[in-house]
Amino acid sequence: MTDKKNGISRRNFLKGLGVASGAMLLPAREVAAAAGKSDEELCTLLDLSKCIACGECVSACREVNEPKFPKPKKPYPEMYPTSRVKVEDWSDRQEVDDRLTPYNWLYIQSTEVEYQGETHEVNIPRRCLHCRNAPCANLCPWGAAGKQKNGIVRINDDVCLGGAKCRTVCPWHIPQRQTGVGLYLRLMPNLAGNGVMYKCDRCYNRIDEGKLPACIEACPENVQTIGPRSEILKKAHELAEKNNWFIYGEEENGGTNTVYLSPVPFELLNKAVEKGPGKPGLSPVEDSMADEEKLAYAVGIAPFAGIAAGVIKAGKFLASAAGGKDND
Ligand code: SF4
Ligand code: SF4
Ligand code: SF4
Repeated sequence: MTDKKNGISRRNFLKGLGVASGAMLLPAREVAAAAGKSDEELCTLLDLSKCIACGECVSACREVNEPKFPKPKKPYPEMYPTSRVKVEDWSDRQEVDDRLTPYNWLYIQSTEVEYQGETHEVNIPRRCLHCRNAPCANLCPWGAAGKQKNGIVRINDDVCLGGAKCRTVCPWHIPQRQTGVGLYLRLMPNLAGNGVMYKCDRCYNRIDEGKLPACIEACPENVQTIGPRSEILKKAHELAEKNNWFIYGEEENGGTNTVYLSPVPFELLNKAVEKGPGKPGLSPVEDSMADEEKLAYAVGIAPFAGIAAGVIKAGKFLASAAGGKDND
């Protein structure tokens, strides 16, 4: 069971930040001031022993984030050379919820594993892990992906050209592309980019308003808790020690702001879960930013770095000249 005294359940998120218990909406300045006390990044803990795969979190994520979803314009411009850039169009498959898509930023990965003579059914909410030293944010050639002070990693849909380098450098290949939206349509529709990349943005706008992320608020089993990373790790270790459980996310990719707790080893879960496009694994992941230059060259980012600033400037100008977003 969660130790409520340590104060990071969905009910006492705000209390943990130093504000009144039970209040679900507070002036942003109060939350910001309270959160600022620790000056720490926010981290989530997911206790997999509790998840019943009800899907409430997935529905809540889709509902609150629907205004941010892509609204592409058809027909899509033909790209040259056609072999270089593949159209990725999810607009007619928006209902798909068994993998990550531009319209589904969270899904439940369910599996069964044998461990210590028992069969364990394990359900794993999967989304962006909000890495502490995120390669997607560090290596986006156009500066479209970035990390906020509070630890949230976001992709700016005003600037993203959909080149998908963020997906390439992400160890879990989380961001998903939708063709036919975004800046590339105004900039170089036939030659550069191919849409916009989408992923969990940790409900940054709700956090700014003092609310919990929608998936945390909707969960009937209190699977997720959120709080400063040091508190989340302390709690994770206490529970892991007490129950002989396992932790994922403390060290992976240099440390993430998403920490999973599981009653069975992640090695077994990784072998058992279905993996593929939009379906990430759970393998041990080394710090991909440890050799940033090598990674950048390996994925062909370095040659573009010099022109990135110019494109961003042009993009901002074009976006403001058009008076809004393509995908609004
Ligand atoms: S999990 Fe992938 S998409 Fe999310 S912050 Fe880390 S590198 Fe970026
Ligand atoms: S934090 Fe928000 S955007 Fe991310 S999975 Fe949860 S509901 Fe979706
Ligand atoms: S709402 Fe909670 S219990 Fe239901 S699938 Fe999501 S994390 Fe699991």
